[in-house]
Amino acid sequence: MTTIVPQDLDLLPTGQSLEDARAEGERAYELDRAHVFHSWSAQSQIDPRPILASEGSYVWDGTGNRLLDFASQLVNINIGHQHPKVIAAIQDQAAKLCTIAPQYANDARSEAARLIAERTPGDLNKVFFTNGGADANEHAIRMARHHTRRYKVLSRYRSYHGGTDTAINLTGDPRRWPNDYGNSGVVHFHGPFLYRSQFHAENEQQETERALAHLDQLIRFEGPDSFAAIILESVPGTAGVMVPTPGYLAGVREICDRYGIVYIADEVMAGFGRTGKWFAVEHFNVVPDLITFAKGVNSGYVPLGGIAISEKIAATFANRPFPGGLTYSGHPLATAAAVATINVMEDERIVENAARIGSEILGPGLRGLADRHPSIGEVRGLGVLWAIELVIDRATKEPLAPYGSSSPAMNEIIAACKAGGLLPMANFNRIHAVPPCTVTEAEVREGLAILDSVLDIADSHV
Ligand code: PLP
Repeated sequence: MTTIVPQDLDLLPTGQSLEDARAEGERAYELDRAHVFHSWSAQSQIDPRPILASEGSYVWDGTGNRLLDFASQLVNINIGHQHPKVIAAIQDQAAKLCTIAPQYANDARSEAARLIAERTPGDLNKVFFTNGGADANEHAIRMARHHTRRYKVLSRYRSYHGGTDTAINLTGDPRRWPNDYGNSGVVHFHGPFLYRSQFHAENEQQETERALAHLDQLIRFEGPDSFAAIILESVPGTAGVMVPTPGYLAGVREICDRYGIVYIADEVMAGFGRTGKWFAVEHFNVVPDLITFAKGVNSGYVPLGGIAISEKIAATFANRPFPGGLTYSGHPLATAAAVATINVMEDERIVENAARIGSEILGPGLRGLADRHPSIGEVRGLGVLWAIELVIDRATKEPLAPYGSSSPAMNEIIAACKAGGLLPMANFNRIHAVPPCTVTEAEVREGLAILDSVLDIADSHV
């Protein structure tokens, strides 16, 4: 569906003249700097370049340069930018019924819930809607606490679960550090990550066994009866795309069953096709008790998140109120976008595309880069969720940027990507290759070629 507008044309894909759009972009930038307070940043250190238009896998920046979106924005534009069917569904819903409170039945919300429930594994047949991923995790923890009547929660290091209070306390990476007020009842543990094994493991089997033994021991030391839930990204995303070692998630399921702990799979990033399956747990034949989702559920066209809930946990609240909710739970515009997105994903076989691109083009392409670039320490991923780790020494695995911060070399690489026509996603010493699930073979090759040229910068530090 992507029509590529050559750089020398004067029109954007919207039909707007580049000159008009540039003027709008400049005004947006000035007003942004005057009035917009941005996330996660010192306000004087950011440079929010305007985006004038977007289509498919591309965005156009404030000067009209076309950039390949290898970040899918924040890993949420799974069906690509500006899909006409989803735009039409939002417009139709707006004309019909823009908003209605959650206590009333609404066809968009009901149909979205049905489509989601039909795609989740096992008996996760009920859906609670939120506005995004963090509040989905907050409500999932609350649900588990009320279901078990226990308080503590297990969460792994190297994870991200959102920016709100409980969600940031769950998070197992440096984004938690400035927000950690110690009242959360969260106990962190190490998950499997063979490349930087905490368990001195030499192979995947050892990593799985030792990571599970560590989790089991930690639960016994903390008191098995005190844990309401474990929350686990099925494939941790921004924290590094560590695909779990074989048997690990099944082992977690067993531990949860043994101690009566609710297993919450955070699929906010990994869900809705990103790993080449509807949900990443399907790769591991595991059925959690709750799955939290957001991002890809409607490709971020309207804010939406939620929880898919097992029959057992839903039954807890059959005659007991669930003490939680949001004004915009299941908002008609957001759920209409979800219905259209899921239907588009089926019709255009987008999940299958993500799987094929990952196994045939993107994964092998990134491994090919590792053959040529000594700065690549490891390549890992599934579907269209990949990361490369940049190191200055393959033997010691010393990262190109320290854990928890950036480095001049990484900043130079990011700038070179943008100058070369690629919007990358970068975290510490990693570059993530996370294009839309609709990305074409040619687009992936274009992105790989740009990465190939900029990785010389990393190599010069080896
Ligand atoms: N969980 C995971 C795995 C995520 O990647 C994110 C966001 O990146 C969140 C939760 C938080 O989602 P949101 O930013 O929509 O609140």
